[in-house]
Amino acid sequence: MEQDWGSPRFVADQFHRWYQGNARSIPAPTEIKQREFAFLQFGGKAMFRHIGFPDEGAFRRYLSESSPAHSYHSSSYYQRPDADMAGKGWTGADLVFDIDADHFDLPCQHEHDKWKCRNCGAEGTGKPPEICACGKAAFEEESWLCEHCLQAAKHETQKLLDILIQDFGFSPANELVVNFSGNRGYHVHVRSKRIRGLDQSGRREVVDYMLGTGLKPEYLGFNPRAKGGRSTLADGGWRGRAGRALYDYIASADTQTVKDLKLGRKITSLLVNEKEKALTILEEGHPSMFLKAVGVGDEERLMTDLGRIMEIAVKEQAADIDTVVTTDIHRLIRLPNTLHGKTGWQVQTIQLESLPDYDPLTSAIAFRGGEAKIYVRHAPKVRIGDAEYGPYSQETIVVPMAVAMFLLCKKGARIEP
Ligand SMILES: [Zn+2]
Ligand SMILES: [Zn+2]
Repeated sequence: MEQDWGSPRFVADQFHRWYQGNARSIPAPTEIKQREFAFLQFGGKAMFRHIGFPDEGAFRRYLSESSPAHSYHSSSYYQRPDADMAGKGWTGADLVFDIDADHFDLPCQHEHDKWKCRNCGAEGTGKPPEICACGKAAFEEESWLCEHCLQAAKHETQKLLDILIQDFGFSPANELVVNFSGNRGYHVHVRSKRIRGLDQSGRREVVDYMLGTGLKPEYLGFNPRAKGGRSTLADGGWRGRAGRALYDYIASADTQTVKDLKLGRKITSLLVNEKEKALTILEEGHPSMFLKAVGVGDEERLMTDLGRIMEIAVKEQAADIDTVVTTDIHRLIRLPNTLHGKTGWQVQTIQLESLPDYDPLTSAIAFRGGEAKIYVRHAPKVRIGDAEYGPYSQETIVVPMAVAMFLLCKKGARIEP
């Protein structure tokens, strides 16, 4: 039976048992009376939303009784969270950031993700193309995850936190909350009176800052007419970060990468033949010295070239956030400490100081103990805890419950009697 992939009834039962044991220790979001909640059940197509809870007890009872596949709360605050959109009375919203490896372009995705055209049957690895060669754009997609995706998502989260703390001055102890999303990424919530009232365009500006959109080298010290001075690499904000970005880019780019940029002859020569000199200048001198070392000549061309390198370099330093999530002032975001129905893992709040060592493949495993017999149609290799499982293809296996739940939630398997 095609529709039995994932054995939703078995999985729903497991979720129910888990919530009965754990709901009482799930903390309600701050200011619960002003939050909207939303839930999705296994096999359910529609989301139950516009739900409000008077207190933590009612919230926990709901989780324990209905044990949803997916649980969300609003980043916004409302006077009447259970009213329809028009009647809610928006009073503000946390600033939220979503980092999802789904949006990255990673080599590992070609190892574990696949697509197939519903129209012509063409297949490929990684993400599907925008339009298939047959002209249609309907794909069956299989997306998994691995340590590399999770590591990449964590790295982006750390860059984001660095900007929030260093540039915006948010307090890591009181204003920032980091959650593992339960799947391929992390959510960062900023809870501060300072940003609560920001409208959409205000949030758009925050996003632009995060991405380093529209940075111009001439405003970051790279001005041939500047009178010199000290290096800007240790400066705060994008002035320092862009300088460090350029430094890292030059240090790591190989000859072919630089030549492919088709820059002017002199700047290419500096970056290829005198890389050490270029780096030393950035380290020790004012950015204008860098331009002088190239030999200013055609200034317009030089600034265009530098702008191009800077844009590439800045992308490396900017945090790869989902911009739609941050600008949406009515966003629903996953409830921390609940279960994610597509992995069977727990959405977890992580102490900032523990983030560098945080390993979701060990910590976020909810279903511990016991085994299950499953038939796997297809699954790439995955590490759960300390052990690796798979790859599997059309085989019946007996595995620890944590592994079975993951493969079932991913719809790569079904329970065997
Ligand atoms: Zn096709
Ligand atoms: Zn991966």
